[in-house]
Amino acid sequence: MRKKIAAGNWKMNTNLTTGQQLASEVINMVNSEVNSDVQVILIPPYFHITGVKKLIGPAKNIFLGAQNVHHEDSGAYTGEISAEMLQSCGVTHVVVGHSERREYFGEDEALLAKKVRKVLDFGMTPIFCCGEKLEVREADKHFDLNKKQVEGALFGLSEEDIKKVVIAYEPVWAIGTGVTASDDQAQEMHAFIRKLIADKYNQATADSISILYGGSVKPGNAKALFSCPDVDGGLVGGASLKSRDFTDIAKSF
Ligand code: PEP
Repeated sequence: MRKKIAAGNWKMNTNLTTGQQLASEVINMVNSEVNSDVQVILIPPYFHITGVKKLIGPAKNIFLGAQNVHHEDSGAYTGEISAEMLQSCGVTHVVVGHSERREYFGEDEALLAKKVRKVLDFGMTPIFCCGEKLEVREADKHFDLNKKQVEGALFGLSEEDIKKVVIAYEPVWAIGTGVTASDDQAQEMHAFIRKLIADKYNQATADSISILYGGSVKPGNAKALFSCPDVDGGLVGGASLKSRDFTDIAKSF
């Protein structure tokens, strides 16, 4: 059985007060309303990590994520954060290769492969993002592009390691735009990614990996998206900043 996951990426939003308040509200609602077989992952900015960890407390199905990590262990990398630092604060999941990191910070497959390796080395779960821009889809090159991204960053992993990765298909044209991929578009790409993994490794491995959809997921579209056979949940940006909306998305399985 693949894990059902609702992950909320807060990006560079909230301050100390509003972030703590958001986390408290979400944790309370999730504890009382969301099925325990759904993994809820809160992915706040770094400065909230220890505070949110405390708020999560003993909840078994609420996890703490980070939005990025550096690929080296330690050293003179001012402003960066290491996998060991994150792990020591109770982080269990790390987003790797979000399209905003690719676009604004020039992250490419070679770098992302190193980050994935580092996250795994510290016993955490990479949430590896892939997804095409609109012009790539319009040129009908979206399958090629997602294949390149998945192969380039993940296919150096052993079968045992790739099973520990969560993949998030996030078409760039749907992120923060209010335009969601149709259920058919999401299902088609998720099935394609799963087949890539089956062809490289084997079907059982492909079937064990959770593939999330990301791109303007909202309470109103989550149920239909999550009902697609190869969509195992969502990586949610904007709607994760509203406790009611995010909880309703987590209840949409
Ligand atoms: C994201 O940032 O990963 C994302 C999917 O954002 P949004 O839900 O706002 O489109």
